[in-house]
Amino acid sequence: MSYNTVEINLAALKDNFLAIQNRVGTGVDVLAMVKSDGYGHGLVPVVKALCQAGGRCFGVAEIGEGITLRDAGVAAEIVVLLGSDHCQEIINYNLSPVVFDLDNLACLSKAAEKKGQKVGVHLKVDVGMGRLGIMPNQVVDFLKVCDDLPGVYLAGIMSHFPMADDAASSEKTSAQCRSFLDLAGEEQNRHIANSAAIISYPDSYLNMVRPGISLYGYYPADSQEARQQLDLTPVMSFKTRVIQLKDVPSGAGISYGHLFVTKRSTRLAVLPVGYADGYLRGLTGHAHVLIRGKRAPVCGRICMNACLVDVTDIPEVQVNDQVVLMGSQTSNDLNRALQTISGDEIAGWLDTISYEVLCLFGNNNDRVYV
Ligand SMILES: *Cc1c(COP(=O)(O)O)cnc(C)c1O
Repeated sequence: MSYNTVEINLAALKDNFLAIQNRVGTGVDVLAMVKSDGYGHGLVPVVKALCQAGGRCFGVAEIGEGITLRDAGVAAEIVVLLGSDHCQEIINYNLSPVVFDLDNLACLSKAAEKKGQKVGVHLKVDVGMGRLGIMPNQVVDFLKVCDDLPGVYLAGIMSHFPMADDAASSEKTSAQCRSFLDLAGEEQNRHIANSAAIISYPDSYLNMVRPGISLYGYYPADSQEARQQLDLTPVMSFKTRVIQLKDVPSGAGISYGHLFVTKRSTRLAVLPVGYADGYLRGLTGHAHVLIRGKRAPVCGRICMNACLVDVTDIPEVQVNDQVVLMGSQTSNDLNRALQTISGDEIAGWLDTISYEVLCLFGNNNDRVYV
């Protein structure tokens, strides 16, 4: 029980999935990335909703997330990005590891053979990300090993783009895509496209695409063009309530360090949300919230479990009013205008990206599914 709730709109999630599937075409499989607790949206509910929308393949970061999904009764393919050394769990739970290490491959083959099975692996190649994956000149050897090992088969060959969201680097992205195509034949299940590539590089769809952030309704780089390519709806909102209203005179210091001093008689709303809830102290001096469909500035330092909002210009505010920290709210007056604070706007205040904001709010608060 908390005043603060993260609201997850599963209908929007399904719509985003269908928009992506529609864009790439039915001949291309969608490997839905649900790592980090579904980007903060809740692993199991997200996967169950995506299954209803037609999802058949999911990507997690670690083994534990894969086991959670199996325990929840998910039968779909589960690709594990980091964890190919957990041979026994991979076989026991029928997970599909991303591989980049010969010893792991041998271990996986042995464990699978013992059970009279074959484990499907996705071979990761580094064509410019400079992160996980074998180098291009190792691919031939790895493919031969996969072929030779009796307990292993190649379920996919994959790579990852470092800057597909940056239009100025499109030459680089195209070159990386070409290097990848040179490494893997058409007979293989090839996949490289993240959300940014789904929006900007149709040539990179190949057999399968791996959307993450776009499933949750955000653009890797928001722009008019991106919105025209793919119509997405944010899935997460973050809400709290007003727990106290108080009037303070002009010249009053507000919150720790008196960073903020009122310049007029001010009505403050106290909100029971702070950096322990993911509403980071770094938002101090930047953040706005929505109350009664209007924007109000957060003033003074954000505390561990509280912050303060100047509602002098919204005299109709009452104790217990809903406050939207991220999401949309409609005003009660005649024009019923819709106001929105997006994850991108909050990311801008924090000098980060929407991905981090979603994890921050989603993984630190009670979630409700609507
Ligand atoms: C997280 C991840 C994705 C999804 O990236 P988005 O930018 O969120 O679409 C795709 N592939 C890999 C390997 C990833 O780790």
